[in-house]
Amino acid sequence: MTAGSMLLEELAARQDESPRPIQHHPMDSSWVLLGLLEIARRAANDEDVTEDALRGVISRGVMRSLMAALQFRDGRTVQHCRRVAMVATAMARHLGWDGRHLSVLEVAALMHDIGKIGVPDNILMKPGKLSPDEAELMALHYNIGVDMLQACRVDPAVLEIVSQVHLHTNADGAKPNLGARILAVADAYDAILTPQVYREGKSHAEAMKILEEFGGRQFDANVVAALARCVDRNGSPLDQMDDPFAPQKGFGPSFSRPEEALEASQLGHMFSYLYLLEHLYDGFYLVDSDLRVLIWNRNAENLRGQPANKMLGQQWSRRMLAYADRFGQPLPDNEVPMTRVVNTGLPQSPALKMQRADGEWLDVEVQTVPLIDPAGRLQGVIEILRDLSRSSCRNMQFQEMRSAASRDALTGVANRGELETRLTNVLKEASGHPNRETFSVIFLDVDHFKRINDTWGHAAGDQVLVDVARLMLSETYSGELVGRYGGEEFVIICPGTSLPDAIKRADRLRQALPKANVGGIKELTVTASFGVSQYEPGDSVESVLRRADKGLYQAKGSGRNKVCALTSQDLIKLESQKAEEAENPTDPFLYETTFYACIAADMVVYKLGGFVTEHQAALVDVKPHRVLLRVGSRGLLPFWGSTDERRPVEIEMQFGANTPATTKRMAQVAVTARVRPLGWVRDREVFANRAKRAVKQLRSYFAAE
Ligand code: GH3
Ligand code: MG
Ligand code: MG
Repeated sequence: MTAGSMLLEELAARQDESPRPIQHHPMDSSWVLLGLLEIARRAANDEDVTEDALRGVISRGVMRSLMAALQFRDGRTVQHCRRVAMVATAMARHLGWDGRHLSVLEVAALMHDIGKIGVPDNILMKPGKLSPDEAELMALHYNIGVDMLQACRVDPAVLEIVSQVHLHTNADGAKPNLGARILAVADAYDAILTPQVYREGKSHAEAMKILEEFGGRQFDANVVAALARCVDRNGSPLDQMDDPFAPQKGFGPSFSRPEEALEASQLGHMFSYLYLLEHLYDGFYLVDSDLRVLIWNRNAENLRGQPANKMLGQQWSRRMLAYADRFGQPLPDNEVPMTRVVNTGLPQSPALKMQRADGEWLDVEVQTVPLIDPAGRLQGVIEILRDLSRSSCRNMQFQEMRSAASRDALTGVANRGELETRLTNVLKEASGHPNRETFSVIFLDVDHFKRINDTWGHAAGDQVLVDVARLMLSETYSGELVGRYGGEEFVIICPGTSLPDAIKRADRLRQALPKANVGGIKELTVTASFGVSQYEPGDSVESVLRRADKGLYQAKGSGRNKVCALTSQDLIKLESQKAEEAENPTDPFLYETTFYACIAADMVVYKLGGFVTEHQAALVDVKPHRVLLRVGSRGLLPFWGSTDERRPVEIEMQFGANTPATTKRMAQVAVTARVRPLGWVRDREVFANRAKRAVKQLRSYFAAE
């Protein structure tokens, strides 16, 4: 007989003799948990009744209740889940899945956001993009959902998918399971397609581009490719829905029976309570009236070092959790909180030492609370754990302080300190696993920001900064960090992103900026220049940033509103070029080249005559070894010619020494041509092209070969 069943017998004996009077306060949280136990019972009883594809995956009745509760709370998320289920199952079918596997995936897709029911309004309903802190709280919804699904006794395969959807790698460093990877892609695909208050929905093609950029780390590239093929071959799975992105009609859901609305709101309370447990404590587990584990949350997994799939359904026993008193003395049986709760029917909250699966001892506060029904029967017990060594981190004020210290006051994005902290961390990861981890950095600087300040005022300038930050937040994805480096300079850290992908990312931002209504002034179009670099072995925080900054400098130099990337190789080349230039300064508006003319020197002038007539050029000055001519015409306007052919340049030709003829070769003369623009030119590239063409035409008169 196990300790657990002994305990149970004792319990049964006590309950038979004297039902305890109800002792709850009406708002007692144990009412909420009793509701949860009731659902668990319903799910268990339904198990054998359901006679269809969902058999054994989830109780149909429970699923209906959960979806109704989500509808009650947030209709948009129900629509999202239905679309994700459509896309995910279409992809899976395309990959050859069928039967029960498909049902499991479909249920996981429908349920993956169910935990959102428990997220408070200010986060769930926020119209704009969530701040990093809010996003952290929002992410709790995955845990909440898994807690509820555990209690509803859904198939462990569903639990596995839902608990891994948002992970890039799971706990043991391996890839998440394939169902989770499919669901992650379907989830992101739908999120990108869906119009948001702060941005329009994107097209299928754009969505695929974004997903492909993230293929590799955030998303499984093979799964992304499967989605592309699936849509290519069969069309969008969403076409099977009437109006997949139609906004919800009317206000709130309509329930045919009042009990449904009541049940939905009761479920809402349960989810909210799970949110509190997930948010405020370091772990909890719930056992039912048979003392079998019904919920073993993720924090309990981490704190105890025992995975949920090993614990669920197990009957509680002393061996499951080893406790000692604060001095390390093992607790006698009747002092263990669970035993005390069962024996006394009273909640316990001792401070103890708890042993992890790996043998380590932790200081914890344990709250063990009996869940007693109105008839006085023990229906279950919840045990909530607080890790005393890190309790200060859970203190709200501390979190707010930490958040204030890491945010830029004007724009709300990370500040420079936070950027550097995060960069140090990703760098540490990358240098630890150079084959697996990489990251890229995007540095951007608003173009002519001083002019914006001068023209529209400092307040407008501030607004531009706020809007630029917001736009970047809306265009970046989970895991990336946007920060203000200073003034009108921002940095984006993109973990797991290669240089080509980071360049694409930067270019998307570059293109979005002038289109967005940044600054809120109609006549104002804001652009920015971007520098991009990727981590290379041996890099420091400073060197990665410096390369991105050098790229930015180049982007500014080549006309602004550009993206330039630099590798360390490029940087070396660039620096040696600069050193060379410093030694022999060159004029950017002088083009000089030397070619060999394969004709005798006295024929040169004759040949030149042909060029002059055909190109309406003018000979300005002719000397034995030097000719000066002009090509193109100067208009009345101060523009440098409207077409390439007409842009006026001056060509100076210098004739060098003859190389005498040999039997194999004609005599050659070296010709050095120097081209200069006539008039004011702004763009070196346009000039260089014009000069090259002019010389090419000229050469064609001399090259006898
Ligand atoms: P470029 O295209 O070469 O980057 O030119 P620019 O005018 O953007 O660059 P410059 O560095 O010359 O000017 C930056 C200006 O940004 C100078 C400074 O007054 C202004 N500035 C810096 N921080 C703030 C701020 O917080 N708010 C506002 N409104 N202006 C700022
Ligand atoms: Mg600047
Ligand atoms: Mg600037």
